[in-house]
Amino acid sequence: MSELPVVAIIGRPNVGKSTLFNRLTGTRAALVSDMPGLTRDRREGTADLGGPSIRIVDTAGLEEATPGSIADRMRKQTERAIEDAALVLFVVDARAGVTPDDTAFARLVRTSGKPVILIANKAEGRQGNDGFYEAFSLGFGAPLAISAEHGEGIGDLVTEIAGALGLKLPKAKRKRDGDD
Ligand code: GDP
Repeated sequence: MSELPVVAIIGRPNVGKSTLFNRLTGTRAALVSDMPGLTRDRREGTADLGGPSIRIVDTAGLEEATPGSIADRMRKQTERAIEDAALVLFVVDARAGVTPDDTAFARLVRTSGKPVILIANKAEGRQGNDGFYEAFSLGFGAPLAISAEHGEGIGDLVTEIAGALGLKLPKAKRKRDGDD
C-alpha cells in the first residue's frame, strides 16, 4: 500500500482517462482504445509533480448498468476508487458535450463528498467550446480545459492537483503550459 495521496481519474468510457493517466504518469505504452467500454482493470501508477509525487488510479468507465452486469461491476469499481481517493479528477469530453452517463458520474462524485477537479478534455486548439460550457451544468464550477493527447493545460492541472492536496510545488512548475 502506498502512502502517497491517491488521485482517481473518473469518467465514462472514451473521454480520455487512459490518455490522461499516461500523460500524468509518463507511461508511453498505452492501453488506449477507440472502442468505448473496453473492459479493463483499474490501473495504478505514480506521477511525479516535479517534487511531490501522487498515486494515480485510472478506472473503468460507467455504462448503462443493470444489476449484476459487467457495467454494474465497473460502476462499483468506480465507486470504490472514489472512496479510496483523496481527490477525484472527473473527466468529460469537451467535444461530445455532457451526456447522461456524465450526469450519472457527477452524482456518484457528488455523493462521495470528495474534492473534485472537473476536467474538459479534448479541448486542444480551442475546440470543444460547447462541451466546455455545458460542463458547468454538472455543478462543480468551471471546468479546466485540457488536451491529454496534446499535453495542453497539463501544467495548470498539476497546479490544481497540488493545491487541492495541499502539496507544495517547486516554483518552476507552478506556471508551465497554461493554454490561454
Ligand atoms: P478512456 O476510455 O476514458 O480511458 O479514453 P482513452 O484514453 O482510451 O481515449 C479515448 C479516445 O480519445 C482515444 O482515441 C484517444 O486517442 C482520444 N483522446 C484522448 N485524449 C484526447 C485529447 O486530448 N484530444 C483528442 N482529440 N482526443 C483524445
